[in-house]
Amino acid sequence: MSYINKIAIGAVQKAFYENALTHREIVAILSDDKCDDTLFFHADLTRKTHNGDEVHLKGLLEFSNLCARNCYYCGLRRQNKAIKRYALKPNEIIKLAQKAIACGYKTIVLQSGESSAYKLDELCGVIKAIRDMQARVTLSLGEKSEEEYAAYKQAGANRYLLRIETTDPALYKKLHPSMSHQNRFNCLKTLRKLGYETGSGSLVGLPNQTLASIADDILFFKESDFDMIGIGPFIPNEHTPLGGERGGDFILALKVMAIVRLLLPKINIPATTAMETLDKNGRIKALQRGANVVMPVVTEGEYRKLYRLYPGKICLDDTPRHCRGCITGKIMAIGRGVSATNGDSERFIDRLAAS
Ligand code: SAH
Ligand code: SF4
Repeated sequence: MSYINKIAIGAVQKAFYENALTHREIVAILSDDKCDDTLFFHADLTRKTHNGDEVHLKGLLEFSNLCARNCYYCGLRRQNKAIKRYALKPNEIIKLAQKAIACGYKTIVLQSGESSAYKLDELCGVIKAIRDMQARVTLSLGEKSEEEYAAYKQAGANRYLLRIETTDPALYKKLHPSMSHQNRFNCLKTLRKLGYETGSGSLVGLPNQTLASIADDILFFKESDFDMIGIGPFIPNEHTPLGGERGGDFILALKVMAIVRLLLPKINIPATTAMETLDKNGRIKALQRGANVVMPVVTEGEYRKLYRLYPGKICLDDTPRHCRGCITGKIMAIGRGVSATNGDSERFIDRLAAS
């Protein structure tokens, strides 16, 4: 065993017992592929100990691909003229949510590009209608004002997902023209203050992103004590300025996710769709390396195809019912089950109990 390898294995063991790592230790783990098996084993054990074997399934409803932003990596960016845009009507969103709930989903994740296509009351009406169907509502609508976040919360929204994408200010600036990094941090603080179960996350494998910068992201997640963290490999989209770039590595994304699990043992961590795009068994591999959530798409028909953040999106021709059956079978095949609870993270449950 080399000296570097000893540092990495030792760091994994320390993280398992203490849920803490230094920047240097994170970089050592990320740089050393000989520690991967030890890392993944301990991340899986941590997931099992603190969250059990059940997997939360949450229905991802991609209700509009309109976006006013221009993030360099994303197929929904405003300047991409190669996609047909859509915005489902409020009653169409509610109908899709109703169908998903009838399939067994206990959480509906409402996701869209960042736009002002909907009036505040329209979105609040949708949130309320879904809450009235006894489901949890997660929102992923990007940066909004404090008043808007408060109104959604008042209407019944439970959770909010807003990835920081990268904590590196220079990299963020390059990839997000005319967006404020500080505002994104502020939004996350506001969401927490308003009582949302708050999720963030990052992209792994962005052009010029270093392991040191990824280690900063991980430490930011730990310090912010989020309730959920989604890690996605960056997948180049040919209709964006980053179309010719290399893209993220599946194993590196899994390692980042596994380290997050060791540092934040009780949070919810999704096995992301982007991981399955890079590896045909990617979500199951993620579930065996620290993840405890899957978010199958419940959008139907052509909208599944039109919501194209990156190429190679999975299950484009499937129905929500088929997808749920398929992922349930795969989960059962690895000796796990589908959770019958509402999907709150153990971390959030503790936080509520302490407040
Ligand atoms: N507009 C909202 C939510 C939709 S985008 C927002 O930006 O927060 C949801 C996530 O898709 C983003 O946070 C980003 O991390 C991810 N994404 C976008 N383009 C991607 C790409 N090319 N590869 C991998 N993930 C991507
Ligand atoms: Fe819009 Fe979100 Fe894509 Fe950025 S990542 S272009 S905000 S949908």
